[in-house]
Amino acid sequence: MSASAKSPTAPAIVGHDALLASLRRAIRDETLPATVLVHGARGCGKQTIALWMARANLCREPAPPCERCTNCRLAVRLEHADIHWYFPLPRPKGASSPAKMAEALEDARLERLEEHRRARLRPPLEDGVVGIYLATVLGIRSRAHKRPALGEAQWFVIGDAEHLVSQEASPEAANALLKLLEEPPSGSRFVLTSSRPEALLETIRSRALPVHLPPIPTSEVASFLERECGADSEAATLAATLSQGSIGSAMGHLDADGASASVRRESLELLRAALERRRSHYYTRALGLRPGGARGLLGLLAALQLWLRDLAAASVGREERVANIDELAFLRGAAVRLSATPDRLGAAMDRIEEATALATANVNPQLLIGGLLLELEAALHGAARPGGAA
Ligand SMILES: [Zn+2]
Repeated sequence: MSASAKSPTAPAIVGHDALLASLRRAIRDETLPATVLVHGARGCGKQTIALWMARANLCREPAPPCERCTNCRLAVRLEHADIHWYFPLPRPKGASSPAKMAEALEDARLERLEEHRRARLRPPLEDGVVGIYLATVLGIRSRAHKRPALGEAQWFVIGDAEHLVSQEASPEAANALLKLLEEPPSGSRFVLTSSRPEALLETIRSRALPVHLPPIPTSEVASFLERECGADSEAATLAATLSQGSIGSAMGHLDADGASASVRRESLELLRAALERRRSHYYTRALGLRPGGARGLLGLLAALQLWLRDLAAASVGREERVANIDELAFLRGAAVRLSATPDRLGAAMDRIEEATALATANVNPQLLIGGLLLELEAALHGAARPGGAA
């Protein structure tokens, strides 16, 4: 890498000034526990804040992080020897031994860090089947027991930590991490992040200080998109409302051909099929899904949930609450045709919650979506649940 390359700037953190001030104080006064759990919606900047905390601790200037000193500059370039950033990755193929697995995962992690360096703002959200594996946690453990390379502390950021319980539903990675958090080596700090903290082991959650990142006002998200991404005002407003106050997911919605847009279209098609009782479509749609694993469906289910919330808002005349603002006409029409009552819509949302729990447990995605569409149809039209379930 050329040393003359322009230094990257620290990623902007918008709308969390009070939180940053209190974290900075706790870090300075050394009252922050060794393990912190940052939680909040997908794409709301949890890992950005976790990395900021590490800089705020390692920077030696007044009002850290100054973003200019050597520590800060190394950290912003993701090259600081005492900041270790981990996140879920696809399971490496063909790793025949634990050592090969560890090596392949570390290679994949370094490759991903390189992508982060190139795409400063944010790489796309991971929606495939990923995990944080035992081999990774063992690597973290052995690093954590070494002395920090430069200063007195080293930081471990473990993003999307709900993926510690990996696809084979084996808690061994989570248990190994728990052991480490129970007796953290001195000088080692851990920041876990999660959009689904309830999916973490209770024993891990109870060891961590919870820090919640609330959604930020959609007007702030929209002006960020206009300022930083050059979006026009209409696109920025739509992406901001769809994101529900999360800059990362709003950025995903800016690209009309991107993954977020295609998930939104797919979820609308599913809702339409259930509203119109097009049963032949249920199986076609279900079979069209990637068989890779139900975890990849979580984004789709979240998008479907948002459509139902919008339908509920439209049916009680609270259109200012609608997120899919470009589909207001469809939502109005659907609300009228369905004469959707709050309990029917509530039941439909419950069915999606249940499907989300199943998707987390990684049941077959085709079965899951096929079954969910039957359930949604029944709930939306006020019929008994298929299969006679209560
Ligand atoms: Zn600094």
